[in-house]
Amino acid sequence: MKRKIQPDKALQRGLLEFAAQARALAYTPYSNYQVGAAVVAKSGKIYTGSNVENASYGLTVCAERNAIFKGVTEGEREFVALAVVTANGGSPCGACRQVAFEFMRPDAPVYLADASLRRVRVFTLGELLRDGFTPQKLRQGQKRAKANRKTTKP
Ligand SMILES: [Zn+2]
Repeated sequence: MKRKIQPDKALQRGLLEFAAQARALAYTPYSNYQVGAAVVAKSGKIYTGSNVENASYGLTVCAERNAIFKGVTEGEREFVALAVVTANGGSPCGACRQVAFEFMRPDAPVYLADASLRRVRVFTLGELLRDGFTPQKLRQGQKRAKANRKTTKP
């Protein structure tokens, strides 16, 4: 059974405000597209990130991944909600959705807002990334590969 998101307006508002503050610190001399993100960990702590660009464009890191990695490098392993603020309410790229999937449940809420924080869209992570790759799937695949090696040995 699919669990519905429990609307938590206080969490939504607070997390979006953290994301908006982080957005102000974005380093975006090339795209001029500032993104701010905030995640709340299971521990209750909030971590923020902004996008950081580079003259070698491919090295740019998104706000969402910076926020998640900041938490992970402080010892967090699970986040319960993600908020993202952009000029126009844009949604996370595929790479960030997959990184979030590693540390968040598919039913965790993702709040997306424009800079005014008035236009807010709410999704679950599972809606944004259907059938994402998980550590469990990796382990299952490794077990199967090991079993296949045993049976195919001459
Ligand atoms: Zn991204």
